[in-house]
Amino acid sequence: MQLTITRSNQLKPKPAANKLGFGTIFTDHMFNMDYSVEKGWHNPRIEPYAPFVVAPSVMVFHYGQGIFEGLKAYRTGKGQIQLFRPKENFKRFNYSARKLCIPPIDEAFALHALKELVKIERDWVPDAPGTSLYIRPTIIATDPFLGVRASHTYRFFIILCPVGAYYPEGFNPVKIMVTREHVRAVRGGLGDTKTMGNYAASLLAGEKAHQAGFTQVLWLDGVEQKYVEEVGSMNILFVIGNELVTPMLNGSILPGITRDSVLALARSWGIKTIERRISIDEVFAAHQAGALTEIFGSGTAAVISPVGELKYEDKTIKVGQGQSGPLAQRLYDTITDIQYGRVAAPMGWIEPVD
Ligand SMILES: *Cc1c(COP(=O)(O)O)cnc(C)c1O
Repeated sequence: MQLTITRSNQLKPKPAANKLGFGTIFTDHMFNMDYSVEKGWHNPRIEPYAPFVVAPSVMVFHYGQGIFEGLKAYRTGKGQIQLFRPKENFKRFNYSARKLCIPPIDEAFALHALKELVKIERDWVPDAPGTSLYIRPTIIATDPFLGVRASHTYRFFIILCPVGAYYPEGFNPVKIMVTREHVRAVRGGLGDTKTMGNYAASLLAGEKAHQAGFTQVLWLDGVEQKYVEEVGSMNILFVIGNELVTPMLNGSILPGITRDSVLALARSWGIKTIERRISIDEVFAAHQAGALTEIFGSGTAAVISPVGELKYEDKTIKVGQGQSGPLAQRLYDTITDIQYGRVAAPMGWIEPVD
């Protein structure tokens, strides 16, 4: 497939590093590709970032047939640009595609197109500490049709936005609360899929948590509402005794690439890591027994997010006196050192762009 490139002749000014925030500023170019039954995926192109006009009837608006990914490009101290485990993102993208009846993409071609796009936008990759270029591949169903079935046409696009440091002043442990009023996903559903509807389903619980003074919701399983699943857009890990424990991938938890990286690193350091069911009662009992020393989330945006306080029904526990624990800190330091090229990466984790 031939990638065509049309350059913008109106380049936007680049924002100052302290004005970046998250997800509000977009670069000059984007990637687009279309799907039809006759042509398959076709017409891959990099072109100026622009709104696209679609019919109000396109299927993604009505039935949510769409998927996305999230990853980042990092600028190293030497000025090179690199991606962190992008093949895993495109693999997961195709997994999500299968679950939503979206035709699969050629993963190698998608990575090639992404690298070309990032190369064109290389000046948009910020260099201040902790900043990066966030990458959002997305596929939406575009048939103008109100019947319920899988669409016959799709648009695959990739947009980029420079993002600020998540922790400009060092780790900031968050307060999270368990909800029993809402569930995010159930076995056999779409919880393990990066699709828009999971986020739609999480908003109301998230708003209630904010009103109660918490940053995020810790979701329990949708069947028994007993076992811990994940937090908002992060997986969750616990240090209990000398073990790193995290819920096993049961089909309703998103298989995070950061989660996988955390487990691989911890294992390589000789830390016992266990993926299993873990009930919320067990977490509170471990705290009671003095065995629960750390809780933290993992995800692309924050890398590691220490949890300082956890509320469940009428009980609240504090973890690590509001400080980040040593394992959370070590994992954060190591993963960001790998991402920014300060230390050698395990095999295949770093994909240079240029
Ligand atoms: C993307 C996502 C994660 C984290 O995945 P990473 O690959 O580590 O960024 C966790 N939970 C949900 C619901 C997600 O959408």
